[in-house]
Amino acid sequence: MVGGVIVTNAGGARAVKYGVMRNFVRGMEVVLPDGEVMEIGGKLVKDCAGYSLLNLFIGSEGTLGIVTKGILKLMAPPPSSLMLIVPYNSLHDAIKSVPAILKTGVLPISLEFIEDDVIGPTEELTKKKWPVMRAKAYLMIIVDSTSEEEVMNIGMKLTEVCIENGAIDAFVIDTKSKQEELLEFRGIFYEALKENMAEILDISVPPSKIAEYVEGTKKLSEKYGMSLPTYGHAGDGNVHTHIMKDEGWEEKYEALRKEIHELGVSLGGTITGEHGVGLTKKGYLKEFEPKKVELMRSIKRAIDPDNIMNPGKIVDI
Ligand SMILES: Cc1cc2nc3c(=O)[nH]c(=O)nc-3n(C[C@H](O)[C@H](O)[C@H](O)COP(=O)(O)OP(=O)(O)OC[C@H]3O[C@@H](n4cnc5c(N)ncnc54)[C@H](O)[C@@H]3O)c2cc1C
Repeated sequence: MVGGVIVTNAGGARAVKYGVMRNFVRGMEVVLPDGEVMEIGGKLVKDCAGYSLLNLFIGSEGTLGIVTKGILKLMAPPPSSLMLIVPYNSLHDAIKSVPAILKTGVLPISLEFIEDDVIGPTEELTKKKWPVMRAKAYLMIIVDSTSEEEVMNIGMKLTEVCIENGAIDAFVIDTKSKQEELLEFRGIFYEALKENMAEILDISVPPSKIAEYVEGTKKLSEKYGMSLPTYGHAGDGNVHTHIMKDEGWEEKYEALRKEIHELGVSLGGTITGEHGVGLTKKGYLKEFEPKKVELMRSIKRAIDPDNIMNPGKIVDI
C-alpha cells in the first residue's frame, strides 16, 4: 500500500539510479495521534518552510501517525533496458569492478552482486536453471537508456570494464521476458535460503567500502564456523548477509550478529538500509547512535505523548 511504502521508506534494486521512496514523496496527508488530519508538503518541487516534517514521516514505521494519502512524483518508464550477467572467479573481483563501472559515468538502474552459494538452493526450489555459466560470484547489471542502440553501446562499454577487472565473461540478457525471468529468480534467493536461515541482515555501507565489509564478514564466517551467503545491492552499498542455522548456531548467533553490525558501523555504515529498525534492531540503534535515539525519543514524545502509534517500535518512549 502507498502508506506502507512511504513509512518504511522502501527501496529496492533500482535505488542505485532512481533512489528510494523518499526521493518520490512530495506530500502526504497524515492522521496525527490526537486525531487531527494534517497535510504535509504538496505538489511542490521546492519547500524551505522550516523543518522537513515530510522527511520525518517518511520512514517513521508508523510510529508518528497514519498516512492516508501520498502525493508521489512519477516517471515515464525508460524505453530500452539491458541486463548483463557477469561471472567472476571470486567475489573480490566482482566487487572490485563496481567502482570501475561507476567511474565510466554510466549509472546502472541496478547493480547487484551474487555469491554462487545462493544459486544452488534457488535452482532446487524453482526447478529452473541459472541461465549462464556457474562461477564463484556474479554481477547482475541492468542499464536503461532512450534507445536500443544506446543501451547496447552502454552494455559493450560495461562488458569491457568488467573483463578488464577480472570477469570471466559477460552475458547479455536483452529481451524483457528473459530479464523478468532472471529478476524473478533473483527475487527467490531469500525464499530459497529461508528454511535454514536465522536472519537476513541489511547493513548499508558507503559503496566504496563494500569489498572491505564483505571480506570482513567472510573472516567472521571463518571465526565462528558459520556460513554467511551474501548478495546485495553493490551499487548502493546495501548488503544482504544471511546468518544460516549451521550446527550450534544458537550459541554463536548473538555474538556473530553483533560483530557484523559493529563491522558495518565501523566502516561508516548504518545498521539498516532497507528493513528498518522495528523491534529487532532497536537495541543496536540505541547502542550505536545514542544521541540520535535521544532526539528521536523527544520527537516521539512530542507527537505521540500517549504512545499509541506502533508502541515499542524504533524507540521506547
Ligand atoms: C521497517 C520496514 C522497512 C521495509 N523496507 C523495505 C524496503 O526497503 N524494500 C522493500 O521492498 N520492502 C521493504 N519492507 C517490506 C514492506 O512490508 C513493504 O515495503 C511495504 O511496507 C509494504 O506496504 P504495506 O502497506 O504492506 O505495509 P505493512 O507491511 O502493512 O506495514 C509495514 C509497516 O508500516 C506501517 N504502516 C503501514 N501502513 C501505514 C500507514 N498508512 N501509515 C502509517 N504506518 C503504516 C505498519 O504499521 C508497519 O509497521 C519493509 C518493511 C518494514 C517493516
